[in-house]
Amino acid sequence: MFRSPVAGFEMPELPEVETTRRGLEPLVVGRRIRSAVVRNRAMRQPVPRRLPQLLAGATVRALGRRGKYLLFDCGSGTLILHLGMSGRLWVVRDGAAPAVHDHFDLVLEDDTVVRLRDPRRFGLVLWQAGDPLEHALLARIGPEPLSGDFDGPRLHAATRGRRTAIKHVIMDSHVVAGVGNIYANEALLRAGIDPRMHAGRLSPERCASLAASIRDTLETAIAAGGSSLRDYVRSDGMAGNYQSQFLVYDRAGEPCPRCSGVIREIRQGQRSTFFCPRCQKR
Ligand SMILES: [Zn+2]
Repeated sequence: MFRSPVAGFEMPELPEVETTRRGLEPLVVGRRIRSAVVRNRAMRQPVPRRLPQLLAGATVRALGRRGKYLLFDCGSGTLILHLGMSGRLWVVRDGAAPAVHDHFDLVLEDDTVVRLRDPRRFGLVLWQAGDPLEHALLARIGPEPLSGDFDGPRLHAATRGRRTAIKHVIMDSHVVAGVGNIYANEALLRAGIDPRMHAGRLSPERCASLAASIRDTLETAIAAGGSSLRDYVRSDGMAGNYQSQFLVYDRAGEPCPRCSGVIREIRQGQRSTFFCPRCQKR
């Protein structure tokens, strides 16, 4: 599992991306882009050479999100940003000196700069002409977990015949968008499901419970982000994951908040799984 020097920190997940979107929306929508600055093209995919030309003079019409992708609608096309494993967006004033990992700036007409800092450079800065959802990276993303498109029947259908552990299945972006390791752990506790259970064995009722738990987990995290939203704008930095809210994640050996049993940590694939053997059943 990737760990930054900050204990318990993982890559940005959907709640952090949505909180970022909500924080940026009032600062960028309706604003004209004066320029775009690319300091390092070597992201997970190369930043398009023409990007500064495409963005200069365009107006941001809307700031959307699909999974963990931020979509800056610029009319003729869309600037697509992904924070990767270590990306953060900062809001600074034009003229603020960039740090070593500040690879991209979007400079708006009012001197607001949206700056991407990404030490590991697993993030993405891309352009899609026309419908952004037709971009190869977005076209096959599954339903949005916070929308009515994702529910028990849909999860049940997606899991039939699958012997894969349910935790891996809900982290598969083709099944549901944007559920990473932290919130997969949290949702499985809420639903009382053992993370190792074969997905295909889940009943319709348990699929409904899990779909609702995924939504509740993400909404709780986004609501917790509301307070850091102001900090984010004020202090020019985005808060990390909302660790104080976690029920099981990174709490191995601590008492389960539901039953006071002991939370266990195991490895599934390359990732840590945290669960309560007493609450979470196969
Ligand atoms: Zn428990």
